[in-house]
Amino acid sequence: MEELSTNTNRVAPCAMEEKLEPEEEEPVTHGAQPIQIVLADQDDHMFELNAVALEKILMQEQLKDLNVVVLSVAGAFRKGKSFLLDFMLRYMYSQSSESWMGGNDEPLTGFSWRGGCERETTGIQAWSEVFVVEKEDGSKVAVLLIDTQGAFDSQSTIKDCATVFALSTMISSIQVYNLSQNIQEDDLQHLQLFTEYGRLAIEEVYEKPFQKLLFLIRDWCYPYEHKYGLAGGNRFLEHRLQVKQNQHEELQNVRKHIHSCFSSIGCFLLPHPGLKVATNPHFDGRLKDIDDEFKKELQNLVPLLLAPENLVEKDINGAKVTCRDLLEYFKAYIKIYQGDELPHPKSMLQATAEANNLTAVAGAKDTYSRSMEQICGGDQPYLAPIDLQRHHEDLKQTSVQKFRSVKKMGGAEFSQRYQEQLESELDEVYSSFVKHNESKNIFYAARTPATLFAVMFF
Ligand code: GDP
Ligand code: MG
Repeated sequence: MEELSTNTNRVAPCAMEEKLEPEEEEPVTHGAQPIQIVLADQDDHMFELNAVALEKILMQEQLKDLNVVVLSVAGAFRKGKSFLLDFMLRYMYSQSSESWMGGNDEPLTGFSWRGGCERETTGIQAWSEVFVVEKEDGSKVAVLLIDTQGAFDSQSTIKDCATVFALSTMISSIQVYNLSQNIQEDDLQHLQLFTEYGRLAIEEVYEKPFQKLLFLIRDWCYPYEHKYGLAGGNRFLEHRLQVKQNQHEELQNVRKHIHSCFSSIGCFLLPHPGLKVATNPHFDGRLKDIDDEFKKELQNLVPLLLAPENLVEKDINGAKVTCRDLLEYFKAYIKIYQGDELPHPKSMLQATAEANNLTAVAGAKDTYSRSMEQICGGDQPYLAPIDLQRHHEDLKQTSVQKFRSVKKMGGAEFSQRYQEQLESELDEVYSSFVKHNESKNIFYAARTPATLFAVMFF
């Protein structure tokens, strides 16, 4: 199932290219486009992961072992999320340039964005091109941009929307919570699930479970009270998160706990982009139609999130997450959101524990296989079985130690199961190495004197 959006917008050619396979390449986009990776069924409100498409994005050879940065923009419909993401794409495609925002007459392309108020599908889209960025210390990270769509327009869709918000927060390292004009009480309620999850996670591992949360307020109308930008936004947020006597207890708790869930919380106030952007049906995103004040703030906002020194790598339980790991987390998390109810924070924690044990198994197994490959892989000569077994035992021990040394959630008894799984998987890999090794033994392979003769003398 290849869920491609019907997007007609395209990104401009650029300096920084991570090309997809040649057959998919198009002259203008290098084949890059938004891909629907999570889809909510409109009728039964079930969520489905497009694992094939996601795997194609994340498991590319040059990406899969890189630590991943996941930036997501979440919030209600028609509030300029995709529009903002398209500017982020411009930044990613022309990072070295000061004038990343583009020319005055270039239509804005990338994720689909549009005016009007008709419904769109609820779900999560990813930009098919993952950007490789070199950080200041020379390490490379992979940057994945995620767009979400959710509607708050009827009772049945509130759960869908909360799910999209929850799922995107779970898998991102930078969550931009896009809000219009102000922070309302129900915007804070969406964070409630996480505050409880956070409390449980902290009890277990003493770490904040999530990284960066940025409230982004669009069409901010009170610059005289709080200035546009980050400093004004942070002051506004402080004010908004204050616990007051007459607040409902649940909201007081959200306010109290929200800081314990995210390592960094900020707020950025954006001005209104102007009437052409908001109301003109022929507006196609070109800069000359956008208010200067908006552009000035946008110029600060995007690098604040995406400049190499500001990129936040996805971290779960103190361990950096690679593109390959992220796929596992996606699969684990989607399962808990497939039921009728919003998941309990305990099951979110359980899924995280399962996924991080599984990625620890995969990492340890990979170390074993690579080392064995060097000792007795394809090009290596035949080894005496007793030597092969000795190597296996040593490397198995190293691999199990590696698994044990990775910090995991769920407790010792829980991860014992995964250690046993690892051990039996290693034994399986070993037995295929044994067979491969035997096939190299000419005395073993050549059973008849005639072939033995042939092998020895020709
Ligand atoms: P999304 O559904 O949140 O992704 O919203 P879109 O990015 O598709 O934008 C919806 C409409 O809002 C488009 O017509 C944009 O031109 C317009 N728009 C984009 N940014 C802003 C903004 O900051 N303020 C206002 N009022 N409109 C915006
Ligand atoms: Mg959109």
